[in-house]
Amino acid sequence: MTPEERKRRRDDDDDDKKEDPRAFAFDASVSLESLRLAQADFATARDWDQFHTPRNVLLAMVGEVGELSELFQWRGDDECSVGLPQWSEHDKTHLGEEMADVLLYLVRLADQCSVDLPTAARRKLEKNKQKYPPELCKGSAAKYTEYQTKNE
Ligand SMILES: [Mg+2]
Repeated sequence: MTPEERKRRRDDDDDDKKEDPRAFAFDASVSLESLRLAQADFATARDWDQFHTPRNVLLAMVGEVGELSELFQWRGDDECSVGLPQWSEHDKTHLGEEMADVLLYLVRLADQCSVDLPTAARRKLEKNKQKYPPELCKGSAAKYTEYQTKNE
């Protein structure tokens, strides 16, 4: 899509998208486990388990990350602010689809690797809390190794 087409689509949208982007929330009724089961059923019904080796699923996910990246490619920083208020509904729908492709392959990858993804994510968040204590890193984008060096 050309920049002119993107602008035209933006102009066609109503002003609802200019709401506070922080007022956003996920649908809490959808769990990673429900997505894992749905993905497994989808693959089994098509006899695709034979193709879903961890390596193949990872490479498919990387391809989807590329498709997701394309949506941001060549847009200026001013077009990519929090909440993407300048994006058309069409572009945001497309964005959600590409994000879903990445997420679904990641969930499938975790399933095929027997990794409990929600537990791994919670553990990683705890680790990050330890790495980045607010009293040391608030307002800074430095890597945690810089805080360790400062403390020593
Ligand atoms: Mg895709």
